[in-house]
Amino acid sequence: MKKFFCKLFGHTWVHRSDNPKIAWHTSKKMSELEMNTSASDSSFWLECQRCSLRNDHPTRKDLRDVI
Ligand SMILES: [Zn+2]
Repeated sequence: MKKFFCKLFGHTWVHRSDNPKIAWHTSKKMSELEMNTSASDSSFWLECQRCSLRNDHPTRKDLRDVI
Protein backbone atom coordinates (compact mmCIF):
# COMPACT_ATOMS: atom_id res chain seq x y z
CA MET A 1 0.00 0.00 0.00
CA LYS A 2 2.84 2.38 0.77
CA LYS A 3 4.32 1.73 -2.62
CA PHE A 4 1.00 2.51 -4.21
CA PHE A 5 1.24 6.06 -2.94
CA CYS A 6 4.82 6.34 -4.08
CA LYS A 7 3.77 5.28 -7.54
CA LEU A 8 0.99 7.80 -7.56
CA PHE A 9 2.68 10.83 -6.04
CA GLY A 10 6.34 9.93 -6.26
CA HIS A 11 8.64 9.15 -3.36
CA THR A 12 8.75 11.47 -0.40
CA TRP A 13 12.49 11.93 -0.07
CA VAL A 14 14.06 13.19 3.10
CA HIS A 15 17.75 13.69 3.63
CA ARG A 16 19.53 11.45 6.08
CA SER A 17 23.01 11.79 7.42
CA ASP A 18 25.39 10.19 9.86
CA ASN A 19 26.65 13.67 10.51
CA PRO A 20 24.11 16.10 12.03
CA LYS A 21 26.15 19.02 10.74
CA ILE A 22 25.54 18.00 7.14
CA ALA A 23 21.80 17.59 7.71
CA TRP A 24 21.70 21.06 9.16
CA HIS A 25 23.51 22.56 6.21
CA THR A 26 21.21 20.98 3.66
CA SER A 27 18.22 22.92 4.90
CA LYS A 28 20.19 26.11 4.74
CA LYS A 29 21.73 26.60 1.35
CA MET A 30 22.25 24.60 -1.83
CA SER A 31 25.86 25.64 -2.29
CA GLU A 32 26.80 24.43 1.17
CA LEU A 33 24.98 21.18 0.58
CA GLU A 34 26.99 20.51 -2.54
CA MET A 35 30.20 21.24 -0.73
CA ASN A 36 29.36 18.89 2.09
CA THR A 37 28.06 16.04 0.01
CA SER A 38 31.08 15.97 -2.24
CA ALA A 39 33.33 16.02 0.78
CA SER A 40 31.66 13.11 2.51
CA ASP A 41 29.61 11.01 0.14
CA SER A 42 29.03 7.99 2.31
CA SER A 43 27.52 9.83 5.25
CA PHE A 44 24.70 11.39 3.27
CA TRP A 45 21.76 9.83 1.50
CA LEU A 46 18.10 10.29 0.67
CA GLU A 47 15.39 8.05 2.03
CA CYS A 48 11.71 7.79 1.17
CA GLN A 49 9.55 8.48 4.20
CA ARG A 50 6.87 6.11 3.02
CA CYS A 51 8.52 3.02 1.59
CA SER A 52 12.04 3.52 3.05
CA LEU A 53 13.65 3.25 -0.35
CA ARG A 54 17.18 4.54 -0.09
CA ASN A 55 19.10 6.65 -2.59
CA ASP A 56 22.76 6.56 -1.69
CA HIS A 57 23.91 8.70 -4.57
CA PRO A 58 21.35 11.43 -5.11
CA THR A 59 21.82 13.60 -8.16
CA ARG A 60 21.58 17.37 -8.10
CA LYS A 61 18.04 17.12 -9.39
CA ASP A 62 17.05 14.66 -6.66
CA LEU A 63 18.33 17.03 -4.02
CA ARG A 64 16.53 19.98 -5.52
CA ASP A 65 13.26 18.06 -5.35
CA VAL A 66 13.79 17.36 -1.66
CA ILE A 67 14.58 20.91 -0.69
ZN1 LIG B 1 8.69 5.70 -1.71
